[in-house]
Amino acid sequence: HLVFQPQLALATGKVAGAEVLLRWRHPERGEIAPDQFIPLAEETGLIQDVGHWVLEQACAALTRWHRQWPQLVLAVNLSPRELRQADCVARIQACLQRHGVAPASLELEITEGVLLEDVDQCIATMQRLKALGVRFAIDDFGTGYSSLTYLKRLPLDRLKIDRSFVADLDGEESGRLLVQTILVIARNLDLECVAEGIERAAQLELLREHGCSLGQGYLLSRPLAEAEFLAWLEAHHR
Ligand code: C2E
Ligand code: MG
Ligand code: MG
Repeated sequence: HLVFQPQLALATGKVAGAEVLLRWRHPERGEIAPDQFIPLAEETGLIQDVGHWVLEQACAALTRWHRQWPQLVLAVNLSPRELRQADCVARIQACLQRHGVAPASLELEITEGVLLEDVDQCIATMQRLKALGVRFAIDDFGTGYSSLTYLKRLPLDRLKIDRSFVADLDGEESGRLLVQTILVIARNLDLECVAEGIERAAQLELLREHGCSLGQGYLLSRPLAEAEFLAWLEAHHR
């Protein structure tokens, strides 16, 4: 099943959208975290079916929400294997059309790991999706292998500062310097920044001060089931 974690504009505190996160409730073993099954699904190829299901559910959710909350952008994690599928663009386009969702309401999160193989083909696929109006964010920025050269070639809208950097933000000076540097890179490449894993007020304050546009984390809200997410929207944005 899916949960939704709100993403807020840090300057205004207004909700900008949410990230869709997958959960597995196992009949015997209980809740299993994605870190434990996504890599396996990736390895076996099952991630393709899972990913299709997630996108389908995400688009259906957007359709339900948009009447009342037209500004919401939903971010979906796209696995490298999905991006490499031959019919990736057609499938995503068909899914958006089937649900009547504007492409700009969908943001695909890719990790730097995507770029390990067939870089040119990946970039071409991303450009075709971008041409439809779909948005892109680079996830866990700073933890992967991508060079700044690739960053410039990708049709990105947002850069997500990995939560390990946010965790170090209110500690030693070096932690703050790293985040500031990432924000400068984003600004110079004309990308919006999303900070993930904000847990403490001091982190939020520093991110705001340094002009990070969006944030996500337990301090703002945990990932929520759909009904809870809608209640959270009502409570915070009426
Ligand atoms: P991610 O895309 O970087 O997602 C952010 C993770 O950080 C989520 O973990 C979220 O619950 C967690 N998080 C959010 N705020 C905080 C915070 O304040 N503190 C801490 N410590 N953690 C926070 P989650 O849900 O366990 O997901 C882990 C990873 O699994 C995701 O990392 C993503 O790479 C992958 N994943 C999740 N759902 C999907 C999916 O539908 N498709 C694919 N391909 N991957 C997914
Ligand atoms: Mg993500
Ligand atoms: Mg991340």
